[in-house]
Amino acid sequence: MKKTQKRAYAKINLTLDVLRKRDDGYHDMAMIMQSINLCDRITVEDSEKFELTTSSSKLPIGEDNLVYKVYNQLKMLKPEVKPVSINIEKNIPIAAGLAGGSADAAATYEALNEHWNLGLSIEKMISLGVKLGADIPFCIFKGTALAEGIGEKLTRLKSFKDHLILVVNPGYAVSTPSVFKLLDLKVNHTKPDTRAAMKAIEDGDLEKLVKSMHNVLGDVTESEHKDLRVLMDLLESKGALKAMISGSGPTVFALFDDEDKLESCYRDIKDEYATVIKSKTI
Ligand code: ATP
Repeated sequence: MKKTQKRAYAKINLTLDVLRKRDDGYHDMAMIMQSINLCDRITVEDSEKFELTTSSSKLPIGEDNLVYKVYNQLKMLKPEVKPVSINIEKNIPIAAGLAGGSADAAATYEALNEHWNLGLSIEKMISLGVKLGADIPFCIFKGTALAEGIGEKLTRLKSFKDHLILVVNPGYAVSTPSVFKLLDLKVNHTKPDTRAAMKAIEDGDLEKLVKSMHNVLGDVTESEHKDLRVLMDLLESKGALKAMISGSGPTVFALFDDEDKLESCYRDIKDEYATVIKSKTI
């Protein structure tokens, strides 16, 4: 039986700025997105009938699952394709700011495209993906990129791969729409310096990058969850160059430039938080 497997990589935001609310209810964003090697696995296999399974008891596997939505979308495009079963091996924390659902959707496009020989280009998958979720285009694009618009306008940046990242999730979920609801754009916010961050990545200047990094949505999440500031301060006191909330959180990631410091930080906090994962940018 034919079997196709793809990795679904999580993302972190090196910068996240919300520029304005649009008439259609979405927000225009400017974000430097970065893939990390923490991943789910999507496995597609020939089957008698469609079935979606997952290793996670917390993940709904009905029609709301983004993988199911991608399957339905591609099936509409080519109804004559053979039935398949799809399994999601879930390793990325859910509703965590790491775009786990979007990553699964991206890997499902890639897996079904190959399994069914659809011949879809990356551009085509991106244009289908943005209809299902704003982070899906980047999860198809991968690497290091500036994402603008609602997330669909992607510009490739110089690769920021092989940097050490510690991912820490406190074990509760945060809903992205609820964070956007709490965000008041009339109030003055601390902003990331997106242009300076892009230049710092281009120049390989970690010190400048760290100074330019900020997450406007993270500030909203942090004001609701005071434990996250404690966590970020702890990570920085243990040698992280920068600790920041990813997306709308609550996952915090810490950037290190020293493997020993990351190791010792990992050992110190791994039993204190729900999920602590040693990772790398890719
Ligand atoms: P983002 O940063 O894009 O908001 P996130 O990392 O905060 O994403 P996800 O893990 O993508 O959040 O989950 C957001 C919601 O999407 C959850 O409520 C979850 O039930 C739903 N969802 C649908 N399909 C998936 C999937 N395959 N994996 C994870 N969540 C999914």
